Amino acid sequence: MPLWKSPSVGDEIDSRCPRCKEETIHRVVAMMTGSVHLVICTRCNSQHRHRGSLRGSKKVAWPTERQAKVLLKYRAAKEPKSQALLQEWQTMKESAGEGEPATYDQRHAYVEGQAVRHPVFGLGFVRRLTGPKKMEVLFPDQVKVLVTDRRGSGD
Ligand SMILES: [Zn+2]
Repeated sequence: MPLWKSPSVGDEIDSRCPRCKEETIHRVVAMMTGSVHLVICTRCNSQHRHRGSLRGSKKVAWPTERQAKVLLKYRAAKEPKSQALLQEWQTMKESAGEGEPATYDQRHAYVEGQAVRHPVFGLGFVRRLTGPKKMEVLFPDQVKVLVTDRRGSGD
């Protein structure tokens, strides 16, 4: 796990504000090709490009102020969904009961409601079996489709 996590839309980062003429806390409004693109100064509310984000990257079209607003709205609309996921996760956790769940193993056959500990995504629960050797697993903030019941050839 890297100690440093790259910022995403909605995060607060330090950036130089052309209006305040100093480094202030900015909220990320838009990302482009994996780097911070457009930020809003939390002090003066002016929106501008994040300095230094163009280093080594090709010139790309910037989102307009209008597009940035749409992005913010989209972000806001997404929040309740993750809240709902977390609630569902907590409900499943309660019904799964106590006990240390086994670490995820793609060769293992799982049943709905079973707890799985994933090395990357954390504690999850089998939401449903979605097809042959595939299952939907609910983690606190996301749903992942994982392989199940895959038998190795040379066991
Ligand atoms: Zn400012």
